[in-house]
Amino acid sequence: MSIYTCPHCGKKSFNPIKKAFAGQLNSRGKVCMACGRRCVNGRGATIFNAVYTAIVFALIIVIYLNAPKTAGTQFDWIDKYELLINSGLIVSYFVIPKLVNAFFFPLEPAIRNEN
Ligand SMILES: [Zn+2]
Repeated sequence: MSIYTCPHCGKKSFNPIKKAFAGQLNSRGKVCMACGRRCVNGRGATIFNAVYTAIVFALIIVIYLNAPKTAGTQFDWIDKYELLINSGLIVSYFVIPKLVNAFFFPLEPAIRNEN
């Protein structure tokens, strides 16, 4: 079974872009083209995204607090590129969960009501 298969009707009605924006378990999800019912990215994607965003958030704080201390050491590139590193982390914070939603983990029926 493909990860782009609708969990309601079994038709392969999703593509990576549509799946990327179907959201997590707690979101409203996207409507299946074939049966009109809502689907979301399932538990695996939800857990991955929660863990990933927590790690990125922690890294940004750690780098922000420790970058000035690396000046003059072998790690002074952290100080020099702090802004770049943290910008990259912030971008990945938004992009990586979308990519993971697009290419990994199967869809599940949306739990939330359509209203
Ligand atoms: Zn369907």
